[in-house]
Amino acid sequence: MTTQTTLSPSTPSSASTSVDLMALPGLGRFLRWRHARTTLQVPLTLIALLMVLDGLQGPQRASGNLATVLAWVHYRGLIILALLVAGNLFCLACPFMLPRNLLRRFLRPTWVWPRRLRHKGMGILLLVLLLFAYELFDLWATPWWTAWLVVAYFVILLLVDGLFRGAPFCKYLCPIGQFNFVASLVSPLEVRARDPQVCADCRTKDCIRGRGKQRGCELGLFQARKVGNMDCTFCLDCVHACPYDNVGILPRLPASELWSGLWRSGIGRFSRRPDLAALAAVFTFGALLNAFGMVSPIYTVEAWLGNLLGTRSEAPVLGLLFIIALVVEPVLLLGLAGGLARRWAGLRGGLLPLMTRYAYALVPLGFGIWLAHYSFHFLTGFWTFLPALHGLWARLGGASVGLPSQGANFGLPYPGPLIPMDWLFPLELGFIVLGWVGSLLVAYRLAAQDAPQRTWQAFLPWAGLLLLLLLAALWLMGQPMEMRGTPMMG
Ligand code: SF4
Ligand code: SF4
Repeated sequence: MTTQTTLSPSTPSSASTSVDLMALPGLGRFLRWRHARTTLQVPLTLIALLMVLDGLQGPQRASGNLATVLAWVHYRGLIILALLVAGNLFCLACPFMLPRNLLRRFLRPTWVWPRRLRHKGMGILLLVLLLFAYELFDLWATPWWTAWLVVAYFVILLLVDGLFRGAPFCKYLCPIGQFNFVASLVSPLEVRARDPQVCADCRTKDCIRGRGKQRGCELGLFQARKVGNMDCTFCLDCVHACPYDNVGILPRLPASELWSGLWRSGIGRFSRRPDLAALAAVFTFGALLNAFGMVSPIYTVEAWLGNLLGTRSEAPVLGLLFIIALVVEPVLLLGLAGGLARRWAGLRGGLLPLMTRYAYALVPLGFGIWLAHYSFHFLTGFWTFLPALHGLWARLGGASVGLPSQGANFGLPYPGPLIPMDWLFPLELGFIVLGWVGSLLVAYRLAAQDAPQRTWQAFLPWAGLLLLLLLAALWLMGQPMEMRGTPMMG
């Protein structure tokens, strides 16, 4: 395998023994096609434009408008389900990248993203702001604001990536991207070099440098040292750039990268990245907060906080709730668990490095909560696009070409949820408990690495924290939910 003939650009590597999506007949051929990504992006971009059109001009009733229905029921549901069964497929087909790539045909950015901004700080802030705006402006119920959010996304991306080289918007800013990066840590697939030896012998490093007109990895991930899915948009540029056909889409044990201490290209070590750990914490506590925003006890808590602040305005109350839920609570709980683990297991080192290291163990549970939440909306509200599409169709004059424009759903009866309603609770429960078990496993593996002799003492505080979060998630599940994005909400 290490001979020169193996490194011939025309000789595909055959070292990998596991199933490789890139090697599947049909699918592999399609993904290898240089217009594959564009082909996936075009329909999503058209859908995004339809959402903007309907959001700005259509009825301002959430369940009757494509902007709200597609953004908050379908996109979110499909993103999380794709992450569960495959990987970061939304970034692969990202509609925002299409105009950006078009722009770059004419405009070559020259600026370099500032070194002091090369962390996840702004990405976390934007993710929190998105969650905050979602609650404050009831984005799920406001087609007009949802449409403007889509427009803002296009504009900011074009501005940032029009000025700066590489893909700083994806890597450092995009809140959806940051969400996907963390969630994809538990996905079963990753883009990976098929044969490490081929990379070791490679002299050109085209997967990162680019080859001819084919760009290399804009996210700064070098296949020879790439570990896992963090920061990978599944754009497949590395696949196209590698002259040895040495990059595949390969299966791995989901979540296993969370306990890996390896140095990662473009990232470094997880344990030295408090910003990534903070992102993991916001991802998990944000899942609980977002679900809390849907249940009735939130009104009691908001009223109490309003009295405390002496205001009836929602913004400061919500702001305080966000600070408590996404800053105070994670810091206190992770700090407490870290302090106990240090004391019981005699772990050396500071508290912050310990909190950083174990924050990644929260991710599977956070993923399970998001999955339960988004799949609930997706499975119950899947068919809501029909009346919304029908309304847009009628307004665009569909009847004039002889197609039905009267009655809801193009004259079809309204179909119910995708699965029987009484399957929903066990399904959600299963997602959350599965995530919790995954988190326990990650925490245990980390504890076993840190304290081989006193693993249980190092593990138990984190298990206690995870149990607390599990109970919070189960309590939320038991509360009556607002049917956001479905016809039942009116
Ligand atoms: S993946 Fe990158 S380093 Fe590996 S063989 Fe291809 S170009 Fe070379
Ligand atoms: S080029 Fe970079 S971001 Fe794109 S799939 Fe390859 S490793 Fe992932």
